Amino acid sequence: MHTIVFRTTNECNLRCKYCYDNVNHDEKISKNIATDNFANNLDYIVNDTIKLYSDTNYRKFIFHGGEPLLVDSKVLNEFCEILLSKFPVEFSIQTNGTLITKDYIDLFKKFKFKVGISLDGASEEQNGARIYKDGRNSFNTVINKMNLLKKEQIKFGVIMSINKLHINHEQELYDFIALNDINTNIRPVFPSLTGDNSLVMTASEYLTFFKNLFEIWYNDTEKRVKTYQILEFANLVKSVVLDNYKNRCCECSPNCFMNFISLDVNGEIYACNRLYNVNDFYYGNIRGMNIEELESKINHLMELRNRQIREKCSDCQVYTDCYGGCIAEAYSQFGLIGERSGFCEIRKELKEYAKKKVLM
Ligand code: SF4
Ligand code: SF4
Ligand code: SF4
Repeated sequence: MHTIVFRTTNECNLRCKYCYDNVNHDEKISKNIATDNFANNLDYIVNDTIKLYSDTNYRKFIFHGGEPLLVDSKVLNEFCEILLSKFPVEFSIQTNGTLITKDYIDLFKKFKFKVGISLDGASEEQNGARIYKDGRNSFNTVINKMNLLKKEQIKFGVIMSINKLHINHEQELYDFIALNDINTNIRPVFPSLTGDNSLVMTASEYLTFFKNLFEIWYNDTEKRVKTYQILEFANLVKSVVLDNYKNRCCECSPNCFMNFISLDVNGEIYACNRLYNVNDFYYGNIRGMNIEELESKINHLMELRNRQIREKCSDCQVYTDCYGGCIAEAYSQFGLIGERSGFCEIRKELKEYAKKKVLM
């Protein structure tokens, strides 16, 4: 298992409208809960991690959440130090950005963290889903924290969850990416069985948004935004022009569960952080399980998924770009392990669109 997506805490200081996580506390209480839970389990978490990495020399550890920066920086520092005394590890963090301080910046520098910030675009309006408990928008705080990271020369990427608030704002978004010189992932918010779906774009709305943004970028003779700055554009173009190009993200892999796993502070393991607390994807507690038992559960789940997907996708022209897409997306929308991602039709149409655009 080379990548552990670590559920650093279930707590969060934001209340994003489309969030499928269930968080209820005030920030101060959340900080105490998150820090105490992590600190009290620190030795166990180290042992869990060592066990999960037992079959690999490439180790990637992603602090995820809830919001991972609710855990005190000293506790995170201690954990990283202990882990690095055992073997080399590449650390990453995915954060909402609002809680970044000098202490966390020192932590990022010391352990060479790859930093991912969540921000939904160029303005308070586009970021309207990412709010605090009292309804305040997090936009200005996150922009200030991004400026702090830049000042401290810490590289970071921005994940944008594209939703109805982005409709007709493609140019503004493009200018924002160019002006701030940021690297982005743009992803649609997908419908979920449990969350608020009112901001989810329809497939046709997302296609229009994506193509409009692509056109702006494609027709920008100055190339104010480099190809690599919007990861989805880079991957799409490479998949069209390069033979046998393989996208390296988990979403385009036929065996994501064999490489990625979700671990929490109590040793609970799920196939994916996005499927946390979902029974069909729960492997058990790593503290009472040996690695062979875990591998057999993972193989079983992957075989179940792949058998059904092969039947549904066997005729698809873009099968090896997609392999049925993200299981979590499909499950959160349809409630079935063997269902195709809601991205299916979008993926096919975008490939055709990019072929015409890039190869003409
Ligand atoms: S920051 Fe992440 S975990 Fe927190 S409410 Fe927003 S989407 Fe959910
Ligand atoms: S379920 Fe989706 S997000 Fe999770 S590891 Fe698989 S492809 Fe990645
Ligand atoms: S694009 Fe659709 S049909 Fe093709 S592999 Fe992906 S999910 Fe399957």
